[in-house]
Amino acid sequence: MTETREDKLRQLKERLAQISDVSSANGLLMWDRQTYMPKGGVAGRAEQTATLSRIAHEMLVDAETGRLLDALDPPDPSSEDGALVRRARREYEKATRLPGELVAGISRATALAEPAWVEARARSDWSLFATHLEKILPLQREAAEHLGYEDHPYDALLDGYEPGARKARLERMFEELKAGLVPLIRSISARDGEDREAPLHGAFDEAAQERFGEEVITRFGYDWERGRQDRTVHPFCIGLTSGDVRITTRFDPRWLSPALFGTMHETGHALYEQGVDPAYARTPLGGGTSMGVHESQSRLWENLVGRSRPFWSHFYPGLQEAFPEALGGVGGEEFYRAINVVSPSEIRVEADEVTYNLHILLRFELEVALIEDSLSVEDLPTAWNSKMEEYLGVTPENDANGALQDVHWSAGLFGYFPTYAIGNVLSVQLFDEAVSTYPAIPEQITEGEFSSLLEWLRENIHRHGSRYYPDELIQRVTGRPLDTAPYLEYLKSKFGELYEL
Ligand code: ZN
Repeated sequence: MTETREDKLRQLKERLAQISDVSSANGLLMWDRQTYMPKGGVAGRAEQTATLSRIAHEMLVDAETGRLLDALDPPDPSSEDGALVRRARREYEKATRLPGELVAGISRATALAEPAWVEARARSDWSLFATHLEKILPLQREAAEHLGYEDHPYDALLDGYEPGARKARLERMFEELKAGLVPLIRSISARDGEDREAPLHGAFDEAAQERFGEEVITRFGYDWERGRQDRTVHPFCIGLTSGDVRITTRFDPRWLSPALFGTMHETGHALYEQGVDPAYARTPLGGGTSMGVHESQSRLWENLVGRSRPFWSHFYPGLQEAFPEALGGVGGEEFYRAINVVSPSEIRVEADEVTYNLHILLRFELEVALIEDSLSVEDLPTAWNSKMEEYLGVTPENDANGALQDVHWSAGLFGYFPTYAIGNVLSVQLFDEAVSTYPAIPEQITEGEFSSLLEWLRENIHRHGSRYYPDELIQRVTGRPLDTAPYLEYLKSKFGELYEL
């Protein structure tokens, strides 16, 4: 009996569904490791995770997967099934191009590098980490050669996080950002001497922080029937299925910002995952399409909504009630200025909206140079510090607050950093588009009402999951490619007013 195209599609979907199940189970083990697992579980959990990763990988690269994909070639991506086959082929090819020995080599090298990085950072000793980075880099270059690229090996790595992104286009994006941001930062720095941020530091009861955060994200539209919130050292969001999307938060009893804005940020990611069409469950289309588009969602809720005047005109009285001692004497405008302080600093994760992208630009330039081998590991801290001075006018106190501050390189995540900047730029392009469709959105936000905004995002972004690649999605939704102009305009207008420039 001959198999029809429909039979083959059904078989492929069944196979992909099982791979997705194994990956989701692995995701749950990761979530548990970061939230509730006792310390004694570490060794066993590492084995469990490695086994499930291997099973999912073997099922994906199996000859049967290749046979089914070949039979369905070429897929018509204008249909949902075609988009599914296209995405599955992309994953299959990425997985089959890397030799098993190289994959194992990368995972061994990064498993050793991560604890070394933790120690190097604690002691602020670059040499402790440098020997590991020396081993990771050739493996990354080798992976790029196997994955393939047209112009530059960095493109091959970047594509793993942002399908279709290219180094050359990112360079243009960063040039535009640099031209707009560096003068803006200079004029703000020249303007301001006072400590605007003081109201955010004080006594902030953890339980009250948690209650307030829950109230806000419930209003955003986070569905507690399909999610939950727990505590971790490093906050994250994980979508196991669109019916189970979890976020984590950390609380600082002396500082309001990390939990307040971190919770909104992770909820932005979660709303994306909760909003994916349930018909895409257990398929390669069942999650966000790229790291950059994902970050556009988290930054939109965190910054465009959560750091805006309309938002706080509604929520500030409730925040004052939750923290009468710390905020009772702080006026709404004073609070708004505090959460929007621009202050060039050493640490990326604490950076404000204006300086954030320059932290990313610096990392992008340095990791491209590392991959090209035009910068040595030994010289990296010096190169880091001179770029910090050039872009932000800041010299890190030590390497712990400089080249050792981020986990990414120890984990082998080369090509990941630029997705943060893409997310920032895209967040404004999308928000503007949403407001032009529903002009009442800003007014609704002053009433603590987000349904039109969420509806627009659901309709245009969330429900599609990974059906469209980022470039296709952005073009489809906004009628043009990723554009820095609205983003720079937003920053100049918001911070020009705040700093009376
Ligand atoms: Zn994020």
